Amino acid sequence: MPQCIRCGRTVDLLVDGRLCKDCYLETYGLGVAPKRIELTVCTKCGSFRYEGRWLTPPSDGLEGIVGLLFQARFKPGDYTSYYRVEHVEMSPDNDIAIVSVSGHLKTVNEEVEVEYSVPVVIKKQVCPICIRKASGAPTAIVQVRGYDGRLSPDEKEAVHDVLSSLGESISDFIISIDDVREGIDIKMVDHAAARTLAAKLRSILAAKVKESHKVIGQRNDGRRVSRLTLSVRLPFFTKGSIVGYKGRLAIVEDVKHGYVVVRLLGAEKMHRLRSDDAWNTLEPPSYDDEKHVIIAALEPGWIHLQSLDKDMEYLELRRGEVTVEGRVEVGKYARLLLYKGKYYLLIN
Ligand SMILES: [Zn+2]
Ligand SMILES: [Zn+2]
Repeated sequence: MPQCIRCGRTVDLLVDGRLCKDCYLETYGLGVAPKRIELTVCTKCGSFRYEGRWLTPPSDGLEGIVGLLFQARFKPGDYTSYYRVEHVEMSPDNDIAIVSVSGHLKTVNEEVEVEYSVPVVIKKQVCPICIRKASGAPTAIVQVRGYDGRLSPDEKEAVHDVLSSLGESISDFIISIDDVREGIDIKMVDHAAARTLAAKLRSILAAKVKESHKVIGQRNDGRRVSRLTLSVRLPFFTKGSIVGYKGRLAIVEDVKHGYVVVRLLGAEKMHRLRSDDAWNTLEPPSYDDEKHVIIAALEPGWIHLQSLDKDMEYLELRRGEVTVEGRVEVGKYARLLLYKGKYYLLIN
């Protein structure tokens, strides 16, 4: 009689030539269960996403879905000739599934049952069908506008870049994205997702967000239904813009993670401003004068500039009265800006 190398019992048959049935099942079960089961369930109709598609829920609900996903991702062992999920029980918090699997072991020609415990992660979303159903009445609108009203083509592109990089947890709530005359309107079916989108636009583009509510109806249970409007206004600046900062000219070095990084022209120190503060402290620069120039000559303490504009002016400026950005070399092109009584030379 063969002997099990684990428990030492002599039995009629060994499953894999080494272990008795009990020892084999304790060690290997019927195969390898998925490490965890992640599933996305529609909060409105209960349908679930499986391999990129939304499927209608089975009659036994969550347990049924978990059973299907488990069945599909279970890897049967070498001696398992077939297996099926017999029963699924969810923990009270729906975070662990106890799955009973019955199956057949080839070598011992016997049906057996093994229990697996698998962590379950449930993501909640609204499926596209429910979104379409609701599309007559969006509950939130994100309106993206430019600083002076309309969005420039570059700004539109920047907004669309953000929109195309959204995760499903936001994009699944979007009913429509409309390019309108004034900017971009994004209609959504969920207030929280709309706020998350607006927060993203604030963080990435330093936009300013204002919220307003409008009661649009009443549900059967008497609760009011309100529509949330999020006005998202883009700032006048973007990375690389010249801006007024504390009475001087500065360049926007970066806009990200809700911060705006500026540097005074001619200086090295970076100033990190929160987006909201940037809106209060940075100004669109209005120049008293602006010229395209070429550096014509250099003398100790002086820079000679030839204007390339219509006036053809020749300027001799004291080094001390010009803030220089870039390397001063004869023959280089530059922009000469006069801002609040001070000259700035931006060398290409
Ligand atoms: Zn044994
Ligand atoms: Zn649905």
